[in-house]
Amino acid sequence: MLRLYDTARRAKVDFVPRVEGRVSMYVCGATPYDLPHLGHGRKEVVFDTIRRYLAWRGYAVKYVSNVTDIEDKIIARAHEEGTTEPELVARFEVTFRSAFERLNILQPDDEPRATEWIEEMTRLIAQLVTNGHAYVVEGQGVYFQVDTLPSYGSLSHRTLDELLESAGARVDVDERKRAPVDFALWKTAKPGEPAWDSPWGPGRPGWHIECSAMSLKLLGDSFDIHGGGSDLVFPHHENEIAQAVGAGHEFARYWLHNGMLNVDGQKMSKSLGNFVTLVDVLEQYDPRAFRLLVLQTHYRRQMEIGEKELSDAEKAIGRLDAVARRVRADGLESAPVGDVTPFRDVMDDDFDTPAALAYVFELVRDANVALDEGLRDTAATAFATLRELAGVLGIELRAEAPEADSEIDALVEAREAARRAKDWAESDRIRDELSRRGIVVEDTPRGPEWRRE
Ligand SMILES: [Zn+2]
Repeated sequence: MLRLYDTARRAKVDFVPRVEGRVSMYVCGATPYDLPHLGHGRKEVVFDTIRRYLAWRGYAVKYVSNVTDIEDKIIARAHEEGTTEPELVARFEVTFRSAFERLNILQPDDEPRATEWIEEMTRLIAQLVTNGHAYVVEGQGVYFQVDTLPSYGSLSHRTLDELLESAGARVDVDERKRAPVDFALWKTAKPGEPAWDSPWGPGRPGWHIECSAMSLKLLGDSFDIHGGGSDLVFPHHENEIAQAVGAGHEFARYWLHNGMLNVDGQKMSKSLGNFVTLVDVLEQYDPRAFRLLVLQTHYRRQMEIGEKELSDAEKAIGRLDAVARRVRADGLESAPVGDVTPFRDVMDDDFDTPAALAYVFELVRDANVALDEGLRDTAATAFATLRELAGVLGIELRAEAPEADSEIDALVEAREAARRAKDWAESDRIRDELSRRGIVVEDTPRGPEWRRE
């Protein structure tokens, strides 16, 4: 039985999909007004891996993730750059998409864009106005009245009083809202702003309404999994629920949220100056190393990232490619997959990818030992299994990838250490290993030097 941690229930619960054998999943996508950062990369890898695992587990998965192509930040940035909103979004969307492709993120089954769903949104807003959950402020727009919904706060586990208290200090004096926690469903356009027609005059949707409108329409009244970063629990997801429930829908059955990340031990933020773009990391490191590093931390936990973590992850990827090369050289690439139970058991426990990876690397060791000992069938099965499971995690092995220099350096150093310790058997073993990889080592007065044959 698959169990997952539901943010709303604050517990691990059995996963029972709405329709047997099918999973409908909605994950909040990007607002492309700037370069993607590491947090975007983590969220994509986390939910892509969950999607791949569910599919491997036999579910027919429908995966929807939106693109917010109109929003205050987009308008502000386009204005700063002296360009139009569609041009700005189109430009950054290309960057997001190519970064995600390098991370081996599968394309969503549906990728709705907010500006193409305005009618659906205005319909939902009109329903909320009719139901008495929303009100119109002339010249400003339409607001959701939070105190009309007693269950508001149930996802983030806050009471209305607590929310009122924390929102109190942040009241914008220009806004004529009935309460500071009330949030915009529709914003009346100011001169020069992009605008669409609505029953309340020209304007644009508030940020939250698009996800409720598009997920309900594309996935149905009570779809299975809603995901996103933990920074979206409040207010975004709380508001998505309010909009859907206020209009009489059931909405998502399970809420999954991934943790945030620390760069070099500190929370990543523009003000701390440690804001790292995903593009920079993918240029400097094997994208598979970033993916592996993300999965080495459980998705709900805080993740640490820095140069050391990335280069360690790159070495681990090197070990996967190295075993793939050995197996290819020995002609052992086609064998049936062996025991996947340990992998499935840990993944069924709220997608425990660190434990799943530990099993994959146990299989790497098993395959290498079996190859050393000439146990061809054992090696072939271990390899077929590890390749299958790494694939479920979205990590492809590359037998054709040349080994990284750092991998060879490490072997040459290990051989030197064995020689100094007069462990001739070990130093010969490493020399054979190097020569099998086509590496020639020469002992010079400056120490050992190596080159490729
Ligand atoms: Zn959303």
